[in-house]
Amino acid sequence: MTVLNFKGVDLVYPNGFHALKDINFSVEPGEFVAVIGRSGAGKSTLLRAINRTIECTSGKAEVLDFNLMKMGSGDLRQLRARIGFIFQQFNLVKNLTALDNVLHGRLAHVGLLRSLLGLYPAVDVKLAQDVLKAVGLDGKMKSRVDALSGGQQQRVAIARAVVQNPEIILADEPMASLDPKLSEVVLQLLLNFNRERGMTTIVNLHVLELAQKYATRIVGMREGKMVFEGKPKDLSRGALDSIYEGAVS
Ligand code: ADP
Repeated sequence: MTVLNFKGVDLVYPNGFHALKDINFSVEPGEFVAVIGRSGAGKSTLLRAINRTIECTSGKAEVLDFNLMKMGSGDLRQLRARIGFIFQQFNLVKNLTALDNVLHGRLAHVGLLRSLLGLYPAVDVKLAQDVLKAVGLDGKMKSRVDALSGGQQQRVAIARAVVQNPEIILADEPMASLDPKLSEVVLQLLLNFNRERGMTTIVNLHVLELAQKYATRIVGMREGKMVFEGKPKDLSRGALDSIYEGAVS
C-alpha cells in the first residue's frame, strides 16, 4: 500500500499564487520524511494539501484510500481522522488541561457530543494518559496548558496527534518556537512513535542538520517545486545549492 501518491500536482491559491508546481511525491508506510527548503518554498502548503485543508488544483493526488481531487462530504472527516497534524504554534486549548487537550484527539472516535460533555470512555482516558506518559508528562496531566512551557505544550500537541492513532503524522515545523535542545527531544519523540507504532511521518524542518539526523528520506523544495528527493547521505553540495542557493541563512 502507498500512503501518499502525488503525480503532477499543482496548487494555485485563490489569489492566483502558484504555490505547488508539478509535484511528484509518494510515501510508503512507516517512512519518516523530512521536507526542507527556504521559507516560502511551499513546505507548509504541501502538508496542508495532504490533509486537504487546501485543495490541489490539478494532477493526481491520493492519500490513504482517498482521491483528494474527488472527495465526498463524509470523506474529508474520515481522511482527517486518519491523519494527525502537529502545528508550529501547538494549537492547544489554553484554558484546558493537558489531558483534556489530548482527549480532543479522540474526537473522531468518540463523537462531538460526548466530547463536548467530557464523557470520554474510560478506555480513551487510559489511552490519553498512556500517551502523555510516553511523552514524559505524567506529572502534568491535570495542569492547564497555559501553565506549561513551550516544549511541554508541543509534547501535549504530539500526544494529541498520536492518541488519534493516525496512519500519518504531519508536523509543520513543530520545533520552530523551541530551542535547539528541545527540538531534538520533540523530534526524538516523533521518531519513537514512528518506529514503535509504524506511523508514517512527514515533517517540515527548517534546520537542515536535524533533517539529516532523523529522517529516512528528505525532500527539498524550492519555489513550489520539489528539487531534491533522496536519502540524507545523498544530499550533496549540488543538491543543497539547488534547494538553498542564494539563501541568506
Ligand atoms: P513554507 O512553508 O515553505 O515557508 P508556504 O507553503 O507557507 O511556504 O508558502 C509558500 C508560498 O505560498 C509563499 O510565497 C506564501 O506567501 C504563499 N501562500 C501561503 N499561503 C497562501 C494563501 N493562503 N494565499 C496565497 N498565497 C499563499
